[in-house]
Amino acid sequence: MTTQTTTAAVLREQGGALSLETVDVARPGKGEVLVRMVGVGICHTDLGVIAAPAEGQLPIVLGHEGSGIVEAVGDGVSTVKVGDRVALSYASCGRCDICERGLPMHCREFIGRNLVGARVDGTSPLSVDGEPVLGAWFGQSSWSGLSITNERNCVVVGDDVPLELLGPLGCGIQTGAGAVLNTLAPEQGSSIAVFAVGSVGLAAVLAAQAADCGTIIAVDIDDARLERARELGATHTVNSAQVDAAQAIVEITDGLGAQYSVDCIGLPDAVRAAIECLQTPGVCASVGFQGLPNEIAIDQGHLLFGRTLIGVIEGDAVPQEFVPRMLDLYRQGRFPFDDLITPYPFTSINEALDDVHHGKVTKAVLTFE
Ligand SMILES: [Zn+2]
Ligand SMILES: [Zn+2]
Repeated sequence: MTTQTTTAAVLREQGGALSLETVDVARPGKGEVLVRMVGVGICHTDLGVIAAPAEGQLPIVLGHEGSGIVEAVGDGVSTVKVGDRVALSYASCGRCDICERGLPMHCREFIGRNLVGARVDGTSPLSVDGEPVLGAWFGQSSWSGLSITNERNCVVVGDDVPLELLGPLGCGIQTGAGAVLNTLAPEQGSSIAVFAVGSVGLAAVLAAQAADCGTIIAVDIDDARLERARELGATHTVNSAQVDAAQAIVEITDGLGAQYSVDCIGLPDAVRAAIECLQTPGVCASVGFQGLPNEIAIDQGHLLFGRTLIGVIEGDAVPQEFVPRMLDLYRQGRFPFDDLITPYPFTSINEALDDVHHGKVTKAVLTFE
């Protein structure tokens, strides 16, 4: 197989529009997989780089919620083959002590393999006119017709599910749903509060419903989002711009407080309220991210009585186990994640980014012809 070309969305300047360019795609190296994209989501982590790329991070092809069909595999690849339908998730090394413990979301090389943009050896599989373009963002750089990814990013999926919509299962949806189903694992009938109901928070609401929580309280400052949360399964809503959220949740739960909470925004007031609304014992999973540093003040005396605050990355999910689990729930009609998605043609990526930025859509997915 010779080197191929494809159209990719390249970020060349901070805050700039993406340019659709013809890029050269390397052949898959050892452990790598060439995937022809059929769909790819837009996640807030992508928007963060567009707004503020790190030193040396341009030009880059972003995108890390891809799905598509395997077109070629490199040496040593054994778990996927040409023709497989795959959803792509985050990258991990598979060799470090943490990966060997079955916790790839905490891989010792997580930052290098996901958040930099180059391969760990510093090279890139993408170039334009011989000039390298960073093409290993989250080990996939999937805002591109072809992606060089890694075997460990790939989750093989069936042909009975809408392949073009599956990419977000590998990041944004996994983050919200995994915080509920993996980290908190609420008992049937239990109470849970979800702070900030964008795409991650709504995925948490869907998961709370799939877990048969009895009381699902959505908290946000936007009434339209709260209405959406109610449509998707929230039993109660709280507008935290109008009332004290922790106090409102205590009242909704008959003076007890919620057994579980999920913070999906990372703002100090939200995290604090997500802890203060808990009964004892109670657990708050924090998945929101506002960059570093981001200090919060919490009441240690309140925590002492058996409340837990835990940070969660990628929904504590091992993608090859959790994506199939979400798809099984979807098949049973218990996890309608596709209700969160608005599709756009890939060529309309700048319009889609604008709509996501302005909150016009919950989760945008770009589809390829
Ligand atoms: Zn590792
Ligand atoms: Zn993401």
